[in-house]
This record gives sequence, C-alpha cells and structure tokens, in this order.
Amino acid sequence: MKKLIIANWKMNPLKGSEARKMFAAINTVASKLKNVETVVCPPLVYLESLGEKVTTRSCVLGAQDAFWEHAGPYTGQVSPDMIFNTKARYVIVGHSEVRKLGETDELVNKKIQSILQFPLIPIICVGETVRDADGEHIKFVKHQIKQALGGLTQEQVMRVVIAYEPVWSIGVKAKRVCTPAECREVVQNIRHVLADILGDTDSARTVPIIYGGSVDGGGIEGFLADGLVQGALVGHASLDPKEFTKILKIAEKI
Ligand code: PEP
Repeated sequence: MKKLIIANWKMNPLKGSEARKMFAAINTVASKLKNVETVVCPPLVYLESLGEKVTTRSCVLGAQDAFWEHAGPYTGQVSPDMIFNTKARYVIVGHSEVRKLGETDELVNKKIQSILQFPLIPIICVGETVRDADGEHIKFVKHQIKQALGGLTQEQVMRVVIAYEPVWSIGVKAKRVCTPAECREVVQNIRHVLADILGDTDSARTVPIIYGGSVDGGGIEGFLADGLVQGALVGHASLDPKEFTKILKIAEKI
C-alpha cells in the first residue's frame, strides 16, 4: 500500500497566485514519487485552477469539506458533485475545526454517505479533545468511528480513509505532540472497530489509517515507522513547500 500524505492548507494562502506557486513546488517533487500518494487540500476557491496543474495520479487534490445535498437552496454550501467536477478526488470530513463550529457526528455521517455516491474518497477525521489515564479517549474515538460509518455498506467502508487526529496535538499552539506509541494504541483500537464492522481483520487492514497533529519533517518518520499508520494529514507544515516536500521524501523511503 502506498503512503498517503495529505496537505490541509485550511484557510490559506490569501491569493490564488500563491496557491499555484505552492502547488507547483509540491507537484515537482510529489509527481516523481513511487511509494507516496500526495493529496493537496486547498480552500475551495482554488480547486478549479489548481485542477489544471495536476499532472499525475501521484499528486492530486482534495476538498476540506462538502455539504450532503447535491444542489438547491443552501447558501454558502458546496456539494460533492461540484467537488468531483473540479477533478478533486478526496474530501476531508469531520475535521475538529469544523466540528468545533457545530458539526455533529450525525452530520459527518450524512456528508460521508453523500460523498460516497461519487468516485470520491472521504478522509474521516476523528480524535479526542483531551486524554485521561482511564482510556476514555479510546472509547470516544471508537464511538466517533461507529457514528461516522453508520449505515454504510462494507464496500463503502473499504473506500474510506481514517485520519486519527488527537485535537490536543493539532496546530502551532499545541502544548505537546502525540507520540508514535500513543498514536499506535488508538490506531489498534480503530482497527478493532473496523474488523467488527467488516467482519474480518484482513479487510480491516486494507482501510488506510493516517495520523494528523503537528507532523513535520522531524516527526514523520516516527509515525510511519512506529505509529501503525499509512500516512499523515499535515496542517501548518504543509504551507511551507520545503518542509512539506521533506516529509514526502522521508515517507518515500520508509
Ligand atoms: C490538521 O488540522 O489537520 C492538522 C494536522 O494540523 P497541524 O499539522 O497544523 O497540527
């Protein structure tokens, strides 16, 4: 299985010209990699123009969110159909920054069901806001996964990507970064939930699980080598093409 490294640019950069420069710098490196699939998720307004710059299947585009309806009177929303028409192939769903604005598990599930009606891959973000010694965070993450995947067929479950993102480890202001061992423990539990849903551990193993939370060129190796994950969702470090391509090159070698 190829490593999956995803850039989440969030609400950056301010100009389309800058977005095109950043994508070109990433694409130059990413398009030559054999063992890594790179996905750049810019703000929606840049998807169409960046779509013209995609040159290989090794470096593609994703959206940062999608609405569940296809079209109609939903001011400000963008549907999976529209995203698919821009040539994007992935959609981030359930990011903690969207959940913080009121998105519920139920809405996350509706979005996933809608996204899966297209040849799009949902990147489902789950993760606890706090950790405690009693392992409550594991129950919390398991619950989020079950809710997110509720009502999906087994075939649909096998088309998703799960991003484990402990919220306390996200962003430049994070007090500390999750360790590969802490990541591994949760990922093992996510695999158990997937095995329950899919009815066998081999199928569960084919669903990519990636890690997100302050990943940079210094930390990626640890997660890929010891975190039991197949890739990473990268926020602030993906805004610096030099740092991001460093991550890609390390992932290529592991
Ligand atoms: C994210 O928000 O998905 C993320 C992983 O951000 P950062 O890398 O900045 O922690």
